[in-house]
Amino acid sequence: MRPSLLDPLFAEASALPGVGPKTGKLFDRLLGESGQPARVVDVLLHLPVSAIDRRNRPKIAQAPIGAVSTLQVRVTEHRPPRGKGPYRVLTEDETGDLTLVFFRANSGWIEKLLPIGETRWVSGLVEIFDFYRQMVHPDRVVDEAGLKALPPVEPVYGLTEGLFQRVAAKAAAAALDRLPVLPEWLEDQTLRLGGWDTFAASLAKIHHPQQPQDLAPEGQFWARLAYDEFLSHQLALRLVRAKMQTLGGRAQKGDGVLAAKILSALPFVLTGDQKGALAEISADLASDRRMLRLLQGDVGSGKTIVALLAMAQVVESGRQAALMAPTEILARQHFATIKPLADSAGLIIALITGRDRATERRATLEGLASGAIQIAIGTHALVQDDVAFAGLGLAVIDEQHRFGVQQRVTLADKGAAVDVLAMTATPIPRTLALAFFGDMEVSSLREKPPGRQSIDTRAINVERIDEVISGLSRAIQAGARVYWVCPLVEGSEDSDLAAAQDRANDLRQFFGDKVGLVHGQMKGRDKDAAMAAFAEGETKILVATTVIEVGVNVPEATVMVIEHAERFGLSQLHQLRGRVGRGSAKSSCILLYCAPLGETAKARLEILRETEDGFRIAEEDLRLRGEGEVLGARQSGAPGFKIARLDLHAALLRMARDDAERALEQDPELTGERGKNLRLLLYLFERDSALRLLRAG
Ligand code: ADP
Ligand code: MG
Repeated sequence: MRPSLLDPLFAEASALPGVGPKTGKLFDRLLGESGQPARVVDVLLHLPVSAIDRRNRPKIAQAPIGAVSTLQVRVTEHRPPRGKGPYRVLTEDETGDLTLVFFRANSGWIEKLLPIGETRWVSGLVEIFDFYRQMVHPDRVVDEAGLKALPPVEPVYGLTEGLFQRVAAKAAAAALDRLPVLPEWLEDQTLRLGGWDTFAASLAKIHHPQQPQDLAPEGQFWARLAYDEFLSHQLALRLVRAKMQTLGGRAQKGDGVLAAKILSALPFVLTGDQKGALAEISADLASDRRMLRLLQGDVGSGKTIVALLAMAQVVESGRQAALMAPTEILARQHFATIKPLADSAGLIIALITGRDRATERRATLEGLASGAIQIAIGTHALVQDDVAFAGLGLAVIDEQHRFGVQQRVTLADKGAAVDVLAMTATPIPRTLALAFFGDMEVSSLREKPPGRQSIDTRAINVERIDEVISGLSRAIQAGARVYWVCPLVEGSEDSDLAAAQDRANDLRQFFGDKVGLVHGQMKGRDKDAAMAAFAEGETKILVATTVIEVGVNVPEATVMVIEHAERFGLSQLHQLRGRVGRGSAKSSCILLYCAPLGETAKARLEILRETEDGFRIAEEDLRLRGEGEVLGARQSGAPGFKIARLDLHAALLRMARDDAERALEQDPELTGERGKNLRLLLYLFERDSALRLLRAG
C-alpha cells in the first residue's frame, strides 16, 4: 500500500485549486495515462520545456527583434479595426515607437488596459512588420505595481489545445503546495557530488525559476530529478531480477548429442560470434539460475541457428522449447529453416499459428501436452489458453520488442522455471539496453557469416525514377529479383495501401504480370501466396508496404528500392536493406527521396551509404532521434521516463545503477531507514509494482 504521506499527490488534478472539472479534462488529455485522469503528481512532474526571461528591459530602439522583451511605454493612440483588421495601439518611449496589435479583441477591454497618455509595461515578442516595431498580443500588460509582481522568469509548459500557459503555471504552483515534506532518499555523498538540493526544492526551482538556467535539463535541478527517476527504475529492475533468481531455474545441461547432429547437418561452420553467443547461452541454460538473455544481431547475422542449438540443448535435457515470432510470415520462415535440420537430428517440431485447421491444431496441442512434440514454433497463437506443454524449459522470443510485456511473460509462464532468450535484429545501444532492461545479459552477433557482399547503397532523387526503372529492367533481364517498398504515410494505413497499389500499377505498365503486391491488409493466405510467387520467381518485382520489414528470406532478391526513404527511420531503413544481400550475388539498395531533404534525413541517408554495421547505425539513430523513437511506439512494454533523458543524463544513469546495487546489497528488502525512503521514491515514480514482489516472497 502506498504510504498515506503521498496521498495528496495521487489525488486527481481536477481537485487542485484553480483547475476544476473543465480544465481538469484538458490535463487528463495532456497527462493522463491510458485514459486515466491526470493526477497532482503528473502536473508536478510535467516540467516546463523552456523559459521566458522577463528581465530583459531595454528601451524600444534597443529591443532585440524576434526576442521577448519587457518594455516601458507611453500609450499615444488607439486605432480600432477597420473591417477585419486588428486593433492597433501606438506606443512610444524616448527612443522609438512600438505598435501593439490585437486580433479579434474587445475594444472596451483594450481601452481599459491601455489608457491613452498612461505609462505601462508590456512584455512579449518584438517583431518588425512593414518597417515598424510591433508586438502582437503582448503576454503581459501591467502597471508599475503589476511589474513588481511579475515573475522574473516564466516557465513555458507543453500544452494541449484549450489549455493556456497561465493555467498550467497556476496548476503547477498548486501542485507544489500539495507536495508533502519528504525525507531524503539520496545519500549525502551523492547530493554533495551533484551539488544537489532536495527533491522538493529542485522541483520548486524548476516551476518557479529565477533564471532560465534553473530549468535547463542540463542544470542541477533537473539532474537531481532525472537521477531520482533513474534510481527508482534501476531499483525496480533489480528487485524484479532478484525475484526471478530466487524463483530459480533448472539446470538444463544436455548431453550435446542433438546439437552435434544439427551442427554436422549444417552446410557451414558457425562464426566466432555465433560460437561465443552459444557458449554464453549454453552456460546460462546449464546453471540452476533462470536465464534472461538478449541475443542481438543484424538481420542475416545467423540468430536462428543459435536459437535452434539452444533449443536442442533443452530437449536433450528432457524438456521442450518454444520459439515465438511476431508475424505469421516470420514464424513460417523459421519453421522452414529449422525443419530440415531438426529432421536430421530426429527432433520432433511443430508449427502453430492462428490459421491452423482444427484437426491439425488438435493434433499439435495433444503433441505439446504429451511431450511428443519437442519444439514448437509459432506466432502469439502459442500463448493462447488452450496451449499447454508437458514441460516447457526454454522460451525464445524473436523480435521481442514487438511483443508486449504481457505476451512475453505469458509464454514463459507456460512452464516451470522457464529460461528466456529474447532476440532482436534492432541492436539496442548500450545505454538504452541498460536503462530499459537493467542488467539483462546480452549476447551480440556483430560478425556476419562469411561470403556476404556489401550492398551498394545509393540515394537518388525521385525525379530520376525513370532511370531507376530502366535500370531495373536490365537487372531483371539478367535474373535479379526486386523489392519495392512504398512509403509510410503518417497515420493512415489506407493511404499507405493506395500508394503501394498505385506503384504496382505503374510498374505493371513496364513489367506486366511480373509485378506482385503484398501489404498489411491482405489476408494471411494471400500474403503468403504473393510472397511464395516472389520467392519462386514467378514474379520478379514485389511491391510492398513495410510488411516485409521482418521476415522473408529470398536469397535471389538483389535489389531493394525504398520510395520516400526520407520518411523512414534509420534503423528501419537498415532493416529493409537487410532483405537483400543474402545470397552470393551482388546486391544494391536504392533510396528514392523527395527533395529537398532536411538535415536529419540527409544525415540518415549518408550514414546508410557509409555503413552496414547495425550496431553503429543504432548508435547514430539514437543520436539523431533521441531515445524514445528508437524503441518505437510499438514497444509498449518499455517503461517510459518522464524527466530523464538518455542523451543528456547517461552518466547519471550509471551512477544510479551503482547506487541501486549498493542500496539493495545493504538492504535487500528495503526495510532500513534509507530503504524506507527509497520505497517512497518507488511510489513517487510509480515503480512500486516491484515492491509487491518483495512481499509475495
Ligand atoms: P537472422 O535470424 O539473424 O536474421 P538467420 O539465422 O536467418 O539470420 O541467418 C541468415 C542466413 O545466414 C541463413 O540462410 C543461414 O542459414 C545463414 N547462416 C547462418 N549462420 C551462418 C554461418 N555461420 N555461415 C554461413 N551462413 C550462415
Ligand atoms: Mg531471424
